[in-house]
Amino acid sequence: MQQNILPEGVQTPYYFYDTGLLDYTLDLVQQAALPCNYRVHYAVKANANPVLLRHISHRGLGADCVSGNEIRRALECGFAASDIVYAGVGKTDREIEYALRQGIYCFNCESLPEIEVIDGIAGRLGMKARIALRVNPNVDAHTHHYITTGIEENKFGIYLYDLRRVIAESLRLAHVELLGLHFHIGSQITDMTVFRGLCLRVNEILEGIRERGVNFSYINFGGGLGIDYQEPDEHPCADFKAYFNTFAEFFQPTPHLQVHFELGRSIVAQCGSLISTVLYVKEGKKRKFVVLDAGMNDLLRPALYQAYHKIENVTSRLPEEKYDVVGPVCESADCFGKDVTLPATRRGDMIAIRSCGAYGEAMASRYNLRDLAPAVYWASDQG
Ligand SMILES: *Cc1c(COP(=O)(O)O)cnc(C)c1O
Repeated sequence: MQQNILPEGVQTPYYFYDTGLLDYTLDLVQQAALPCNYRVHYAVKANANPVLLRHISHRGLGADCVSGNEIRRALECGFAASDIVYAGVGKTDREIEYALRQGIYCFNCESLPEIEVIDGIAGRLGMKARIALRVNPNVDAHTHHYITTGIEENKFGIYLYDLRRVIAESLRLAHVELLGLHFHIGSQITDMTVFRGLCLRVNEILEGIRERGVNFSYINFGGGLGIDYQEPDEHPCADFKAYFNTFAEFFQPTPHLQVHFELGRSIVAQCGSLISTVLYVKEGKKRKFVVLDAGMNDLLRPALYQAYHKIENVTSRLPEEKYDVVGPVCESADCFGKDVTLPATRRGDMIAIRSCGAYGEAMASRYNLRDLAPAVYWASDQG
């Protein structure tokens, strides 16, 4: 971890972003995707920080949004409307109208009632909405059950048994143009055989649809590529080559098919750390607690998903001990790690919680009326 994480005059807790690492990661993504003719949209929900969004739009990625406000933010930060797709199970009428008026590329739709509403609004505006159907492909992502989305019986997507009917109904509507299908099976997936399984399933689905005379121009495989939370310094970038090569090898596209991806975590997670100060070290009978000035309102993932983040004491050089590292919020879940090995830790030491660029700042709240953590930027020299 670089020493530049401690800028003077900024109060902890704060998010520290290495924009050099972000740019380097974006270059790797594009180098791996472009030879396969794949188009990558950044999933804005992972981190909607305007500074990061500008780096991402500047490198030529599109934006995958899940609310009207995310679309507005993406437009403000340099993404063209034609490079924006809009997903989500609960799009409101106002959001749909806003997205249509902006001229976004495509709505990724999750149900027939939603498609009928989009058709109605587009008709009223004298427009035609480009849509794709989000299909629940029944592929198990082997990841945490809160972040699995592609198996049956969850709220996302159109079920395979229902797909034929939804396609037929959509093709009958006058104000929607059905471009293709969208899939997103979960998050923090590091096992490429999961994506291979997705490719094979999508091949089957497309073949079944072609047999009935429907030809799509657009397939979107969603996101979900995982990162190394254990060793962020050894693996600062996800293996984008292995990821896109899996699709190049196993997915069989028809000619002229546009193939899109929506990566969130793998683009921004490693460039961010949450920096905080040790307020107190509390010694119990069996455990020692390090109490930070950062809490679950700043970084929710450990409390919400029992997620692991590497924790480092960046100022102590003393022999190691074990601590439970906790925040100040009045909830037992406000704990960043149990039995964490750290150099002996004292009040005033600085702690870095690593790999926080995705679903960190984006999920922050003002619970306990705490202030939102500010962001600090630094461009390291990468590559
Ligand atoms: C969250 C989400 C993504 C991004 O997922 P990551 O795991 O961060 O890559 C992509 N597409 C959809 C539809 C999503 O909901």
